[in-house]
Amino acid sequence: MKLFLNSLKGRVISWYFISTLFLLTIISLLTYQEVKEAIYQTMDETLHSKLQIITGLLHKEGNVLELELSETVSGEYSIPRSGHYYKIVINKNETIFSPSLVFRNFRFIPNTNKILNNENKENFYFSKGPNNDFIRVLQKDMVFMGNTVQIFIAESIEENLKVLKKLYFFLLAVVPVSLLIFGIFAFYITKTSLKPLEKFSEEVNNISHKNLSKRLNLNEQISELEQLTFSFNNMLDRLDRVFTLEKLIVSEASHQLKTPVTVIKSYCDVTLLKKREIEKYIETLKIIKETSENMNQLINNMLTLARLDSGILNREHLRKIYLNECVENAILLSKTLADKKQINIKLDTLEKVSVFGDKEKLSEAILNIIENAIKYNHNNGSIEIKLKVINNLACLTISDTGMGIKPDDLKYIFDRFYRSDSVKNEEGTGLGLPIAKAITEIHQGNISVKSEFGKGTTFIINLPVFNEKF
Ligand code: ADP
Repeated sequence: MKLFLNSLKGRVISWYFISTLFLLTIISLLTYQEVKEAIYQTMDETLHSKLQIITGLLHKEGNVLELELSETVSGEYSIPRSGHYYKIVINKNETIFSPSLVFRNFRFIPNTNKILNNENKENFYFSKGPNNDFIRVLQKDMVFMGNTVQIFIAESIEENLKVLKKLYFFLLAVVPVSLLIFGIFAFYITKTSLKPLEKFSEEVNNISHKNLSKRLNLNEQISELEQLTFSFNNMLDRLDRVFTLEKLIVSEASHQLKTPVTVIKSYCDVTLLKKREIEKYIETLKIIKETSENMNQLINNMLTLARLDSGILNREHLRKIYLNECVENAILLSKTLADKKQINIKLDTLEKVSVFGDKEKLSEAILNIIENAIKYNHNNGSIEIKLKVINNLACLTISDTGMGIKPDDLKYIFDRFYRSDSVKNEEGTGLGLPIAKAITEIHQGNISVKSEFGKGTTFIINLPVFNEKF
């Protein structure tokens, strides 16, 4: 049962069942009540007309009030216990009564409250007749030709009760039968309505990491499902992109790490073949140290990218910081490298600019670009750095007089592990620019490049200036 209620089908059917039961019960109760009231109203109107006829037949004979004999009072009223009765009490002692009543002193004792019809000053109530059957009574007190007269007109309601009883059992049977029919209907409707959802789930089940490029068929007949399929396919697009990227990273990383590990192993193998001079060991250890430093750089870069991808740096970590301080940090950190190649770093303009960001990460992004400007520069070359605010954007440009980038390479330099052929003899991981790009984008900024092969390269970073609304 719990399993059934946990399913969508079960819930729809249960709600359908409960609401139908509620609705049918209300309708049945109202119908019964309405019919009952209509029957009693018709009966009361009949009693009222009969009272008027009987009142019309009252007349005075000498000093005595009498009821004129007519067909009306001799017909149905003449048969004992016929179910049609009248009784007239004059001045509380004299009684005229219909032969159908059998006893002169028969009393119409109320067994329900009397309901007064104000308009005609008539009282209506239920009582028991001479047959012990249920009767409806109309009682009217009046003064007629100087006499106090109390008139009772009564009709048996046994026939009406039978009709009401039939209606009662009919409605009692209608509710479960209708429920059953509605239930079958609801089951059929939910089953057919949920079929496309089952098909959808089947299609989703067939998608795994092996066929992430597969997409779900759009179901245009059901708008909700169309929207769901659309969102699902969008999610698959995103997953596919990330998955492909992950695969690329894993294969590139293993490829990149394989070379230094092979270098280290070969040097160890060759050196250990025989006993050598101490200088040879020192030389081997130096090579191993240098190679492992490169490996360390690669692993650190991969870790940084993986952390950025996982959303470790989100807007909650950002504060008001000064971009000019990040530039100064990066210049300081790259000084040793620049000095080795006698490269002059010129700070053209350095405006004090605040941005909403992470100081450490922005310094790292700028450092990656300055280090490239040094690495891919000639000895005695120069680098020019400007930081200005243009149209509410912090605009940082880093230009070098280096080798420049070939136009064919330009569109790939922000791709992970991409290195142009012209720099293959320089140490590098191909991850410096992707890291700089990811950091800039997390800060809602962008990075672009202009280069002329053989003359130099300029990187431009634009970041929104800090404003209180951040
Ligand atoms: P790495 O420098 O470790 O190779 P990057 O991602 O930092 O990796 O740079 C990617 C490629 O872009 C470099 O291999 C190089 O070909 C090119 N590049 C980047 N900056 C410069 C620059 N200032 N001058 C010339 N080429 C550059």
